[in-house]
Amino acid sequence: MKKRVLITGAAGFLGSHLCDRFIDEGYEVIGIDNLITGDLKNIEHLFEKEDFHFYHHDVTKFVHVPGKVDYILHFASPASPIDYLKIPIQTLKVGSLGTHNLLGLAKEKKARILIASTSEVYGDPLIHPQHEDYYGNVNTIGPRGVYDEAKRFQESITMAYHRFHGLETRIARIFNTYGPRMRLNDGRVIPAFIGQALRGEDLTVFGDGKQTRSFCYIDDQIEGLYRLLLSEYTLPVNIGNPEEITILDFANEIIKLTGTEQKIVYKPLPEDDPLQREPDISRAKEILKWEPLTTREDGMRKTLEYFKSLSKEELFKREHKNFSKHNKR
Ligand code: UDP
Repeated sequence: MKKRVLITGAAGFLGSHLCDRFIDEGYEVIGIDNLITGDLKNIEHLFEKEDFHFYHHDVTKFVHVPGKVDYILHFASPASPIDYLKIPIQTLKVGSLGTHNLLGLAKEKKARILIASTSEVYGDPLIHPQHEDYYGNVNTIGPRGVYDEAKRFQESITMAYHRFHGLETRIARIFNTYGPRMRLNDGRVIPAFIGQALRGEDLTVFGDGKQTRSFCYIDDQIEGLYRLLLSEYTLPVNIGNPEEITILDFANEIIKLTGTEQKIVYKPLPEDDPLQREPDISRAKEILKWEPLTTREDGMRKTLEYFKSLSKEELFKREHKNFSKHNKR
């Protein structure tokens, strides 16, 4: 009998790539998404597969799935700083209430659950690079607090279900990841820069651009997550690429890659924007025998191809997703 896996946030960037991977591995996949930030076009190609099922549902409400479930991957959440500002309450709810519902479902089905945590649990880190034993430096009441604290609560409740109910749990701390199917207008730096370059606009660097990030290509990220789910390790594991770059150097790389004539313009640094971020992946290397294999050059080339394949209409669509109806809930 095929193993059945439930993936929340299935129409999102990471979720849709996870659906692909599990279908390729011969699983039956049940995807759930409320489509606030996800997009059905990311999984359209899966609807013809016998082993793929989709429910349009909000996991902050009671979740029921008929039949057996072997694995749950909880990837439903807004994940860009602009999204948190626009839908802060949904962000808090999906990380807390949503996680609680899925842990309850995992307990009921005796399923193993992997939750998508984040490097944001480290906040604006005071140690560098960030190891899993670092407790973080988070502003609870800042604009990012709604995401960071929801994810920190998510880790706590997951460990509580593990310790109290003996649930099989896995916690992935995901660092900045990029690749095809990122939302063009979600405000994150990679789609922002590529979109600007393709539209012939100047690239907007926030602050002085000396803040750093470390970007992991989607295929590497999915491989790390897959290995973590199937491992026997229950404590958090950083999954990301340790190659660190300043945002200013990265903007220059994109200008070179796209061959645009555009310049860099400076904009104010958003509140609580972490100054540096780089995963220490020694735990993942040791336990999962995993490390990223894709160079930034190769990954960015593939990502650029994806954005180039979008229609002109999509490329020039300025307005951010309309979230107003969801905020009334
Ligand atoms: N950033 C930027 N210009 C943009 C968008 C983002 O300079 O148009 C910067 C942002 O201030 C941050 C970094 O790029 O320092 C990464 O931002 P992103 O929103 O992708 O994710 P974060 O890592 O902050 O969650």
